[in-house]
Amino acid sequence: MLKAGAAAGAVAAGGLLGPAPLQAAAKMKGGQVPGYYRFMLGDFEVTVLSDGAYTLPTSLLGTNVPRETVTAYLKANLLDTEERVSHVNIPLINTGKELVLVDVGGGENWMPTAGKLADNMRASGYEPEQVDTVVLTHGHPDHLWGLIDEFEEAPRFPNADYVIAANEWDFWTTDKAMTTLPEMFQGFAIGARKHLPPVAEKTRRIEPGGEIVPGIMTVDTPGHTFGHMSLAVTSKGETLLVTSDAVTHPYISFEHPGWWPRTDLDSAMAEKSRRKLLDMAATDGHLALVYHVSFPGLGRVAPKGAAYRWVPETWQWEL
Ligand SMILES: [Zn+2]
Repeated sequence: MLKAGAAAGAVAAGGLLGPAPLQAAAKMKGGQVPGYYRFMLGDFEVTVLSDGAYTLPTSLLGTNVPRETVTAYLKANLLDTEERVSHVNIPLINTGKELVLVDVGGGENWMPTAGKLADNMRASGYEPEQVDTVVLTHGHPDHLWGLIDEFEEAPRFPNADYVIAANEWDFWTTDKAMTTLPEMFQGFAIGARKHLPPVAEKTRRIEPGGEIVPGIMTVDTPGHTFGHMSLAVTSKGETLLVTSDAVTHPYISFEHPGWWPRTDLDSAMAEKSRRKLLDMAATDGHLALVYHVSFPGLGRVAPKGAAYRWVPETWQWEL
């Protein structure tokens, strides 16, 4: 039988190359899978949502060290020496009583490769209307410009209350931003002034360091911006440190926390905050969520010499 089948196939294919294929080539699908990743932190369910990614020139890295030193370091880690891809990983925390979103991504009008937060939220099973509280860690576009819709009118999370540091609110809603920011970042000021006023009535302006809802504490980490906040999320003895932009690069921020990125408004203050957070994470073994490293941005901070090393968490399939 086998012999006869093989012979028939050879005849059908019209040659000596064997049987003709039984199906056409599969069509390529294109596109990427939805960007969300879920895990339990004690009794809290955390869903990391991707807002997409964007690229930045490496000239923004390590501005207080010689350019050759930065380039050599990037090369040694097999990283591109011209551009870096920055992911945007945003936590959505369900405490069982409240749904808390920490930052809102860049929205539709910032970068074509970002603004995917709402789509990924829906793919993860949540709706923007369900969000109770939005915490704004700081006023930069990749964290803020998803606040109102693409027509720049209505809040995208219509039923939420908002929380931001009082001095951060003040900086971005007055002339301070425009007069303080270097020219290359002045567009940030124009955008923030469009996005914050529509939620003014529903925004709680706080002094960082307090609790937002039970289990979610703010940590004062100024420097990246003056009112920049991080979060410590704790349930049943497990803590997740949400660093926001006190930590930004998967290698440099950890191994060289003293190298200053140009994106920090007050570099020395930002370095102090970065070292404080890294020390907390390394000393207590806390899980950390870093916004701009590879999705989902979860990992731990291990000591390495006088500094640290980023150890990404293994993807888990069971909650
Ligand atoms: Zn950022």
